[in-house]
Amino acid sequence: MNTHATRRAAVLATLADRGVDALLVTHLPSVRYLTGFVGSNGVVALSPDGTVLVTDSRYTVAAKAAVDEGTQVRIEGVDALPAVAQTLAGMTPEGGVVALEAAHITLHRADELRGVLTTLGRTTRGETGIVEDVRVVKDDAEKALLRESARINDAALARVLAGGLAGRRERDVAWDILSALRDEGAEGPSFDSIVAAAGNGARPHAVPSDAVIPDDTLVVIDMGAIHGGYCSDMTRTIPVGDPPAKLREIYDVCLRAQRAAVAAVRPGVACAELDAVARDIIADAGYADHFGHGLGHGVGIEIHEAPRLGRNAKGELASGMAITIEPGIYLEGLGGVRIEDLVLVTDDGAEVLSHAPIASHDD
Ligand code: ZN
Ligand code: ZN
Repeated sequence: MNTHATRRAAVLATLADRGVDALLVTHLPSVRYLTGFVGSNGVVALSPDGTVLVTDSRYTVAAKAAVDEGTQVRIEGVDALPAVAQTLAGMTPEGGVVALEAAHITLHRADELRGVLTTLGRTTRGETGIVEDVRVVKDDAEKALLRESARINDAALARVLAGGLAGRRERDVAWDILSALRDEGAEGPSFDSIVAAAGNGARPHAVPSDAVIPDDTLVVIDMGAIHGGYCSDMTRTIPVGDPPAKLREIYDVCLRAQRAAVAAVRPGVACAELDAVARDIIADAGYADHFGHGLGHGVGIEIHEAPRLGRNAKGELASGMAITIEPGIYLEGLGGVRIEDLVLVTDDGAEVLSHAPIASHDD
């Protein structure tokens, strides 16, 4: 079975447990995952009877080239909903249940589909996590793409840092990252890069500004590449000159927390427990109130996907998950630090995919 057929079979295997006969996939990253199709409009109807990709005429050639023989392509007009409903009804037994992706369909479209399917003798039900639960564990093809995406990201950062940081505007460094990612082979950035020096570093999601990066501070750089449709994500906090003692202190605490969390990664560890490994170290150092966000998140076709690593996160790690480990400490007015690696959960630990050097005061 090819990669996409294997993934579809894994999803189909879970439908019966949910009491569902067919699934309409409306989330584009999941459409790509299950069929290989990439475009701005496409839905997948999936049942034990088969797989149908419904898209429009802009994608006639691309869709046929992307899918395997197990997926039928149907080209419809812009208002494809009636046709999609007919397709789903044809793949579902009389009185059967069609699941809709509750997190990825508008109420308007769901109502319209429900209307047509009801007249055809089928019921609809909103479900969450059907495809996501399969996507959360990466297959070998995905792991290879993630490794290369991370390698591109490492190389791009090295290029940018070779030009130095002090005296340049944050915004210019951010543009430099974009071109370095392209030069290293990325299809694009996986998100808008963050370049945040001195006080701006205290904002976890700072937007690069016109501010000139001064001497003697920390610069938070958070960046990612897309390769083969897969995202990478990495943060390095770069000391420029001789940062003040307080910033050096939070840097060391954050680094200890990050290393402890990476060392604790293995299958079976609860997501909330992993978060606590880093959070406890930061709290013990007196900075509990300065680490507001979660420890990390899953990464794949989407830059933020399951699992979520946070204080109240559910579930546990499993071999094959791709996650970030990114504790941070943020001091308003002074600066911030975040250190983020992309890691794969292996059978007995972690494979760290981010290889860009991490500054340490020991060296
Ligand atoms: Zn990041
Ligand atoms: Zn991240």
